[in-house]
Amino acid sequence: MRATTAFNKMLAIPGADVAGVQFDPSGIVVVLRRRGRRLHCPCGWSTRAVYDRTTRRWRHLDLGAARLFLEAEIRRLACRACGRVRTETVPWARPGARFTGDFEDVVAYLAQRTDKTTITRLLRCSWEAVAAITVRVVAEHLDDARLDELYRIGVDEVSYRKGHRYLTVVADHDRAGAVVWAGEGMSSATLERFFDTLGPDRTAQLQAASMDLHGAYAKVTRARAPRARVCADPFHIVKLANAAVDEVRRAAWNTTRHAAGVARPGPLARVRQDPAAQLVKNTRWALLKDPAGWTDSQRDTIVRLRRARHVLFRAWVLKEELRDLYRLPPGGRPDAHLDAWLARASRCRIPAMLDLSRTIRRHRDQILAAVQLGLSNSKLEGLNSKIRLINHRGYGHHSAAAVIAMIYLCCSGLTITLPTER
Ligand SMILES: [Zn+2]
Repeated sequence: MRATTAFNKMLAIPGADVAGVQFDPSGIVVVLRRRGRRLHCPCGWSTRAVYDRTTRRWRHLDLGAARLFLEAEIRRLACRACGRVRTETVPWARPGARFTGDFEDVVAYLAQRTDKTTITRLLRCSWEAVAAITVRVVAEHLDDARLDELYRIGVDEVSYRKGHRYLTVVADHDRAGAVVWAGEGMSSATLERFFDTLGPDRTAQLQAASMDLHGAYAKVTRARAPRARVCADPFHIVKLANAAVDEVRRAAWNTTRHAAGVARPGPLARVRQDPAAQLVKNTRWALLKDPAGWTDSQRDTIVRLRRARHVLFRAWVLKEELRDLYRLPPGGRPDAHLDAWLARASRCRIPAMLDLSRTIRRHRDQILAAVQLGLSNSKLEGLNSKIRLINHRGYGHHSAAAVIAMIYLCCSGLTITLPTER
């Protein structure tokens, strides 16, 4: 069997035959001869008239340890639909790509599952190539129909690049928190772009939207989707409560430290011996963590605070009682629970908790709406950690477009089929 025949059978490139095989220092170069005469524009329009021609190489999947390239003539056409000269599409690669579709599918499949360094070593391509491939594959797979059956959404901002840059992410509560939209920025203008994409008909069928009420999102949602109930994202409410308890802790620490007569930032030896300071020290995680995840010493910490009838214990109880709102058994009365909580909190005489109770009272209806509609946002909370994982794997250092593509790739339920599975 001739080498060209063997490669032709082995590679089975759609729309082309192998005309020759060369071995050069960069690897194996398979020269292709196109079968069809027609030129197809990426827009779908086609013609037989060639504007000009050139030769291009595409990186294909490795053959053993050797790099494999496809080489073919590629032509340009004067597209009447686009009104300009464009490069024709080829069946084995995406428009504009210097990699074959098979190679890119393998990259996208791996990007869903592993870190970027592994991919660049395994496939011998650059970080930039991985980012560009991800954007192309996602653009091909992302279907506008994902926005059709959208009734209950969660909106949240996520940071990438260590808190300097933000994205706005919209997830579908009814599809396990799958991301349906992501855009650069966290302003009202960012969310406006989501509603623009959604269009008036699909916006009108939105029933509920959960979000952090502190941000710019609530106002935009009320203006653009007046029929959707704005709900307070439970994750952010619990976060507010945790922040209030932490403020109480810091105030208590400062008070006891000054009472022990130690000037900042001097030695803490005397504080360590002071029983009041002892009580406050190292309480942070016991106060913030879910009791189910406590260590023995964290449990002891809370027991000691309770015995001392400490202000920190009272603040912690208030926080946990607020969290109970989201753990009520079926048939529980969230409105009664929240109103009783507000009554207790408003009498507690702990400044940070009083501030919290005022915030909660201001958003009472939106908080209850989230409970009544079952918008737990725990799925979106999971989304936040998934996006952090994307960053840890090395995908967060590029453009917003590349990070957004990774979010769609990993968090919107896209299925990438490997060339070996087709
Ligand atoms: Zn065109």
